[in-house]
Amino acid sequence: MRCIQAMNHGQISLKTDKSKTVHNNQCRIQLQQHQQRLEQCTLCPQMFGPAIHGLPVVSKVMLIGQAPGFKEIEVLRPFAWTAGKKLFSWFETIGVDETHFRKTVYMSAICRCYPGKKTAGKKQASNSAQSPKAHGDRVPDKNEIKQCSQWLQSEINILKPALVILVGKLAISQFMPVKKLDEVIGKTHRIIINGHQCDAIPLPHPSGASTWPVTEPGKTLLKQAMTLIKKHPAWNESTHLLQR
Ligand code: SF4
Repeated sequence: MRCIQAMNHGQISLKTDKSKTVHNNQCRIQLQQHQQRLEQCTLCPQMFGPAIHGLPVVSKVMLIGQAPGFKEIEVLRPFAWTAGKKLFSWFETIGVDETHFRKTVYMSAICRCYPGKKTAGKKQASNSAQSPKAHGDRVPDKNEIKQCSQWLQSEINILKPALVILVGKLAISQFMPVKKLDEVIGKTHRIIINGHQCDAIPLPHPSGASTWPVTEPGKTLLKQAMTLIKKHPAWNESTHLLQR
């Protein structure tokens, strides 16, 4: 009797694994089709494309950044330059390096195209991209954020993430009120995106211009946030998949 139960249990578990694989494959195809459509998007006249996205990773963890910079649209990868180096150094403190992160976490953003330089028009922004330190990047406006939210909503619908990592005040403020980073970083928040409930762990923006992550209380709060990510079941499940 025990053997029969064990065999039945084994069959059920094999079936579950098989349906999970089928589901993941379907999600991957949906993500690939979604990203092909995203690459063609030209809805915002002030933005510089192409739209940037990460790998079509079927993951229960999603990272949501602000918008790509001038380097990202050159190399066609999110967080590909100095801010990315800093961001990935934070994840290394909890045991996941850049390559592993890109393969196991879905990388999304509030806006997918480069907004250009502050106060610059399209032509000027393109020229000033050659000297990135001369001006900061323009913050996407409300209309651009609204237009671009359709892409994030589709990704939420496909992946139904259990954990979203929100990077920077603009990304955090789309999902919760935030006056000061001190009030929201270092905690796990329950949020609803597009009718889907999940946990959100906010992080500061890793831009070199911000001193918040390297001065107190930011330094301690950032450490707390990284510990929360490390302990989250979805993080463990997603980032350990490749190691099995
Ligand atoms: S920012 Fe988003 S909505 Fe605007 S053009 Fe780029 S992809 Fe399209």
